[in-house]
Amino acid sequence: MRIAVLGAGTYGSYVIDSILKKYPEAEIILFDVGDKRNKSEQEIGYYSSLKNALYKGLTDGRFFGFGGASVKWGGQLLTYTCNDFKNPDCFMKDITKFDMQYKDDMLAKFNIENKFPEKHVSDDLFTKTGVWLSALHHDFFKWFKIHKRKQVTIRSNSRIVRLESKNGKDIDAVVYLNNGKEERDSFEYYFLTAGAFENARIMLSSGMVNGDKVFFSDHLSQKVFKVKKSTVIGNEDFVFRMRGTSLITKRMVGEIDGCSYYVHPVFNLKFPFFESIKQILFKRHFEWKYVWNVFTDIPNVIGFVWAIFVLRRMYVINNEWFLYIDIENPTKESYVSLSKEKDAYGLPGLDVHYYVDKEAENIYEKAKVAAMKHLDACGVDYDVLAEKIDVQTCEDIYHPYGMFHFDSAEDYFTRWNNMLLVTTGCLTRSGGINPTASMLPMVDEFVNNNLKSYHT
Ligand SMILES: Cc1cc2nc3c(=O)[nH]c(=O)nc-3n(C[C@H](O)[C@H](O)[C@H](O)COP(=O)(O)OP(=O)(O)OC[C@H]3O[C@@H](n4cnc5c(N)ncnc54)[C@H](O)[C@@H]3O)c2cc1C
Repeated sequence: MRIAVLGAGTYGSYVIDSILKKYPEAEIILFDVGDKRNKSEQEIGYYSSLKNALYKGLTDGRFFGFGGASVKWGGQLLTYTCNDFKNPDCFMKDITKFDMQYKDDMLAKFNIENKFPEKHVSDDLFTKTGVWLSALHHDFFKWFKIHKRKQVTIRSNSRIVRLESKNGKDIDAVVYLNNGKEERDSFEYYFLTAGAFENARIMLSSGMVNGDKVFFSDHLSQKVFKVKKSTVIGNEDFVFRMRGTSLITKRMVGEIDGCSYYVHPVFNLKFPFFESIKQILFKRHFEWKYVWNVFTDIPNVIGFVWAIFVLRRMYVINNEWFLYIDIENPTKESYVSLSKEKDAYGLPGLDVHYYVDKEAENIYEKAKVAAMKHLDACGVDYDVLAEKIDVQTCEDIYHPYGMFHFDSAEDYFTRWNNMLLVTTGCLTRSGGINPTASMLPMVDEFVNNNLKSYHT
């Protein structure tokens, strides 16, 4: 079986590992617009408009080349349980079912175990514990050793332009640009894994979506409380703990009017040394001023090193930390569409329209009240940072969802006869988690039980 994987990033790498575990004889052609060097949107030469500066998910949240965004991401792997959605649609119900079924096996592929139970801590909130990938093993392409797989032929610097399909159900060919030259190839099966927004651009360019817009939503994030003295709320300690070089973190998740929110701790916002460490570990970025940051604050640096290496927990500067509330943006009008502007490849870029309306403010207010009720009941010493929520100042958290719509897992697996679309954009809801890992069990279920019909 000749399989095309279109995008060598987070999902593309996971898909290849899953296929080869089940079908070691498969022949995989992996296309990627980039190569070994990870690039930003600007560096790779893509175009997206900043019609609304509120949302920078395309300009600042996309990374290209082998490993894709996993080279730069946090590596927090979270999945859904029955606690996440009060009234999930059929597709989210199916995703939750497969998440619960495959979670342990999926995490085991990364040498991770997460047996921490979720606990209801109030009428509104339950806790969810996350185990992150080791800070040294973020990059899925490297982790799964894709470049060493003999079954995989990599076509780097190959930009997928569009898919060809006469009947909308069967993909006949993929058209791509290789060093400026348009080429075409056909495969038995296709996995479209070019990132949420580029997948949308490809689908729009291929006439494979209804209309000329792909609607989407994303989380909004705000710093809401400053907490003093202790990191314990009720019986739960929210300080990050260390397991090997991996972090264990905890959040509280709730849902209001069909809209999820999560309340999560952020530490050391005003600690330049800690910021330097994050830049080096997560963004792979170094500046000499980071060394200077060590010498300007030696007592706190010593405290930090002691906490991490001896106590195996996060240092909390001045014993003060912050609680952020992130919500699913309930506004339904945000979308991307093909732009008149061409990118460096001569292809139409994406115009981005992102909106936040009054409904988001209402959800924020209600989520804030629910969180305060719990903090007060637990006798927590805290300040409310802003009496009025200002959703215009949302932080940069990018988990696009709600782009492609499926009725059920069955519909998802069979929408196209020979293609699977893998992206967080398929999720109807993002819930109270960073949702990338929630789609991995769907890949496993598909490869284990649905791909076989093509293989025989
Ligand atoms: C700073 C940051 C931190 C994050 N932290 C977390 C986290 O802790 N947990 C979490 O769940 N999520 C997190 N996310 C979100 C997560 O990174 C994404 O959801 C995930 O990486 C998406 O995977 P993907 O395979 O769809 O895209 P990518 O990993 O970006 O892969 C897409 C691949 O396709 C290639 N490509 C693009 N266009 C084309 C084309 N036309 N032709 C051929 N190849 C193409 C690209 O080069 C890239 O390799 C974070 C995101 C950011 C920006």
